[in-house]
Amino acid sequence: MQHVFGPVPSRRLGQSLGIDPVVPKTCNWNCVYCQLGRSEPMVAERREYVPAEAIVAELAERLEHYEGRIDWVTFVGSGETTLHSRLGWMIRQVKAMTEIPVAVITNGSLLYLPKVRVELVAADAVLPTLDAGTPDLYRRLNRPWPTPDYETYVQGLVDFRDIYQGYYWLEIMLVRDLNDTVTALQALASQIARIRPDKVHLTLPERPPAEPWVQPPDAEGLMRAEAILGQVAEVVHPARGAFDLSGYTNPTEAVLAVLARHPMRESELIAALARWGDEVVQETLQALRASGQTQVLERYGTRFWSLAQAHYAKK
Ligand code: SF4
Repeated sequence: MQHVFGPVPSRRLGQSLGIDPVVPKTCNWNCVYCQLGRSEPMVAERREYVPAEAIVAELAERLEHYEGRIDWVTFVGSGETTLHSRLGWMIRQVKAMTEIPVAVITNGSLLYLPKVRVELVAADAVLPTLDAGTPDLYRRLNRPWPTPDYETYVQGLVDFRDIYQGYYWLEIMLVRDLNDTVTALQALASQIARIRPDKVHLTLPERPPAEPWVQPPDAEGLMRAEAILGQVAEVVHPARGAFDLSGYTNPTEAVLAVLARHPMRESELIAALARWGDEVVQETLQALRASGQTQVLERYGTRFWSLAQAHYAKK
């Protein structure tokens, strides 16, 4: 499997070439909204899931192809990025290889470890998650591995701010009736004041969530969030740009590489594959379904494609 994927369009990071340092699905959380499905089993061990040298070599090749067409190189993917034990080494290698800025998307749970904080300092932007302002909501929404506990996790986010000079953007996924109530938002606001991020990005579930009951907040809930979370918070609506699959030599490889990290709407998948022509695209998609490598889910009234191995609760 390839570990460099995309570029994928992102509201926050423009055209972003993704580096997936783990394998599907490697995460110490089991968020109710996770677009990769449930974490079965959960994984909390830091280790070298994919040889770091192989990832860096693959990136060097792909960077040549995308020269001048990408805005960020982003560590993100099929689980929690900081579970890769050589993440810091890889970030430094990428920085030595290109002027393109490097971002790390993380759930932030391991920032309580001094070693992880030191590793992430080399990145130009770090985007950790903070969905819950209380331990109880943290358990219900993120369903984390038992360690670290909530206070240790949040203190890790605070401690990282003290040493980090890059862009520090917190991400909050808003889920209706969980963290969009006045009480939940006020609790979040207190934690944000402790963490002092540069920005807070409010995002909404818009791809198939692990649990089918997950809904985005309604318009009132969104306004409430913006009002209570203050000036630093902004709603980030999903990017609608094109997925660039020009770096792949065949459509099957392209579909499998992207779906492992990013379930896609059927319409955007077909549009991204357009250069192979309608007939080949239809044959490819049919073959992928028939071989049991992919699945199609209906969520929010839309058809989505994902890898078959992703665990989504039935409706
Ligand atoms: S959303 Fe991120 S942190 Fe949560 S379970 Fe999925 S991969 Fe893990």
